[in-house]
Amino acid sequence: MERSIGHHWLNYIDGEWVDCPNRLDVTNPANGEPFASIALASVEDAQRALDAATRCAASGELTRQRPAERVRWLLRIADEIRAVTEEGARMLCLENGKRLSDARDEFAEAARYFEYYAGLADKLEGISVPLGDDYVDFTRYEPMGVSVQIVPWNFPVSICARSLAPALAAGNAVVVKSPELSPLGMCVLFEAIARAGLPRGAVQLLCGLGRDVGAHLAASPQTRQIVFTGSVATGRSILAAAAQWATPSVMELGGKSAAIVFADSDRAQLLASVKSGIFFNSGQVCSAMSRLVVHRDIYDEVVADVAQLARGLTIGPGEQDPDHTPLISGQQLERVVALCEAAIAEGAQPVAGGARVANRTGFYMQPTVFAGVNPEMAIACEEVFGPVLSVIPFDTEEQAVAIANGTPYGLVAGVFTRDVNRALRFARRLRAGQVFVNEWYAGGIETPFGGVGLSGFGREKGQEAIYSYVQTKNVAIRVAEG
Ligand code: NAD
Repeated sequence: MERSIGHHWLNYIDGEWVDCPNRLDVTNPANGEPFASIALASVEDAQRALDAATRCAASGELTRQRPAERVRWLLRIADEIRAVTEEGARMLCLENGKRLSDARDEFAEAARYFEYYAGLADKLEGISVPLGDDYVDFTRYEPMGVSVQIVPWNFPVSICARSLAPALAAGNAVVVKSPELSPLGMCVLFEAIARAGLPRGAVQLLCGLGRDVGAHLAASPQTRQIVFTGSVATGRSILAAAAQWATPSVMELGGKSAAIVFADSDRAQLLASVKSGIFFNSGQVCSAMSRLVVHRDIYDEVVADVAQLARGLTIGPGEQDPDHTPLISGQQLERVVALCEAAIAEGAQPVAGGARVANRTGFYMQPTVFAGVNPEMAIACEEVFGPVLSVIPFDTEEQAVAIANGTPYGLVAGVFTRDVNRALRFARRLRAGQVFVNEWYAGGIETPFGGVGLSGFGREKGQEAIYSYVQTKNVAIRVAEG
């Protein structure tokens, strides 16, 4: 079967595209209209996917041959992804609301993940441990077996590739659960992956409800590793399920990340970072710059500049490539509006936006900047996951560090200053998995990424990530005498 029947899309299990009795509508956030559907997997479908992956992992087909074969598979996948980029990006833009150019970038990034981890697939070298002449001792990196990967809706294609590429590079079989709100770009991604000639059962893609299909995958003893990217609440329930079988997990959760701005910073550089930091993907980014912590000497100027920036952003549907696009769903829009209303009730001043965009169908939120925010307000502590920036003043370095580190999250943080000593001091003191200096979202797929505290644990991206997808086995040999 093909990947879709008209506008109805299928799941990929055991080397085949399969339909299910139930279906889920997929809605265009730019107009609120359903435009396609996807087969909604049941718990039984999830079990068939786990069984197929378990058979593949047990068959040795992913590890028997020289690792160079996996290198070739991954490079082939990268090429196939590039070939479907235009179609996939248009689908992702339509279902997700994001800018078409950003959707294209997501496919480009997905291809890069496969290329990058292709480069590591044949370099997973163990060590030889000296135990004296009577022993030979060495370590091997073995795949986990079946890796279950649960993906959120905000960057479904690149987040899927971020985990799938190292998992395959290390020789695992994989079951991916796509997000209910944005599953179709991932179907196009999997069509590309399916063309690369992997063994049957090496990869499966299911769209199912989190509370049944996701929960079943997380709780299964066949699952030998879980990679979860999503909210803290879901992360907690997956960790509880994983505890039953002591299943190793990587948790990429939310954030409330702060950028600290000093008077000696470059204003143009700062404003470019604010634009991408909080308004890219309409703020629906785990590592969004949702707090701007600004030295009091320049606080009023920065507030004015940032408010002007927000008010000047063009707004429209993703395919027109404006600066700012709709949120993913009506529910997400209501949540963001409610958080803004609560902030205003607590005394924060909306110097830009603060409400939904009037007179537009679709789920559009105004780019929003709050001044007069103090660190205790809910808007300064809770993850909004929308285009909402809180600007908070500080007087001393101690205060700035305390504000930035003052939430239970710790995904990324930033500092804007020309003073390299100060930048390095802050890089050390900020409680976060990644610190940006003078450019938000500096780094790339090559740089390890992940959180501390409620932002999660384990690292994705970079060389380090591949070690989440293997387990170390030590082989200790007593050498016979004589
Ligand atoms: P979510 O937690 O609602 O859903 C994420 C995925 O989990 C979906 O596929 C969903 O179906 C599934 N799920 C839901 N309940 C489940 C359960 N009980 N068991 C198993 N799976 C279940 O998150 P979301 O709303 O899709 O995404 C937004 C959140 O993701 C934000 O908090 C954001 O910060 C976070 N996020 C983190 C990163 C990161 O890398 N740290 C990246 C992107 C998004």
